[in-house]
Amino acid sequence: MQESVLLNLGFFAKSCAVLVCLCGVHLIVALFFYLTEPTSTKFYYRQMPPDSSETHTRAALVIFDNGTDLNKLIYNASVIKDDVEEPAVLESCPETSPLLVGPLRVEFSEPVNLDMVHKENPQLMTGGRYKPSDCVALQKVALIIPFRNRDEHLKYWLHYLHPILQRQQLDYGIYVIEQDGVDTFNRAKLLNVGYEEALKEYDYDCFIFSDVDIIPMDDRNTYKCSSQPRHLSVSMDKFGFRLPYNQYFGGVSAMSKQQFQKINGFPNNYWGWGGEDDDIFNRLLFQGMKISRPSGDIGNCRMIRHSRDKKNEPNPQRFNRITHTRQTMNTDGINSLKYKVINIEKNKLYTKITVDIGKP
Ligand code: BGC
Repeated sequence: MQESVLLNLGFFAKSCAVLVCLCGVHLIVALFFYLTEPTSTKFYYRQMPPDSSETHTRAALVIFDNGTDLNKLIYNASVIKDDVEEPAVLESCPETSPLLVGPLRVEFSEPVNLDMVHKENPQLMTGGRYKPSDCVALQKVALIIPFRNRDEHLKYWLHYLHPILQRQQLDYGIYVIEQDGVDTFNRAKLLNVGYEEALKEYDYDCFIFSDVDIIPMDDRNTYKCSSQPRHLSVSMDKFGFRLPYNQYFGGVSAMSKQQFQKINGFPNNYWGWGGEDDDIFNRLLFQGMKISRPSGDIGNCRMIRHSRDKKNEPNPQRFNRITHTRQTMNTDGINSLKYKVINIEKNKLYTKITVDIGKP
């Protein structure tokens, strides 16, 4: 009996010794982690008011959600708060950009290198998109260029226009709409396609329809929309720096989404050169709109000289067609547009959409 009591006492003593050893190891481990922990963690933890800061609340919420280390989360959250700048609330850009310089020298003697154009416009995003970084642009502008076999002209256009559009503080994208195949060219239908395709990509509210060979000579000629449809290429060198006739609406024009929709877009059935811009003018007129234009020298622009494109001969039907705009405009336009996208290429300076628009 005495022997068994002594034996039990020995077992109890051994168990106590093991327990003491375990506590010792635990203490050493705890001490090690405390000493090797980054001092900033302890600092932040102690500095953190119990629940007054948003960071603390956020960290605490995460902790309760996934059960991870409280100290580490609070530390990380604090670092995030201190290191990453809060997104600044940008103000609207001013009505008139302070970056404008006025009259520009425009010439076409030296060839343009597109790599250089890209280097000179480092802020551009893929597809020829841009938006100011220091203010919210007043308009989201899609620039639509009808195109076929005019690569040299396009280079000049990009070289001159990208810097101008950026100085004008626009949120913009460049869409080159290339007619596929070799059939007769159709400028207005390509412009309709550009309108439709650009809207698939971004919520544009303004559309600039520009020929590839027309360059403005003054950056105060803002490529923006107004309360009325705007004609921008009002005094071209080709026409002796004045309008060829009062109703002229060709070259470069600007229309808001509402204005464009009100006229059912542009006609689809003007194949070959001429008349489609007169039809557009008629549409605007019949919908009770007036054309707004820049005044004086601001509207000066230069056209790149070229010989007539093949398959873009003057359209003999144009004179007859423009006398019927009132009857055709509600059924021929964006509501009857049919085409097939063949290819979309997004490069550094523009988006090129190649389309099959059929033939006459
Ligand atoms: C044509 C227009 C053209 C204008 C100026 C008119 O006769 O119908 O399409 O823009 O001439 O060249």
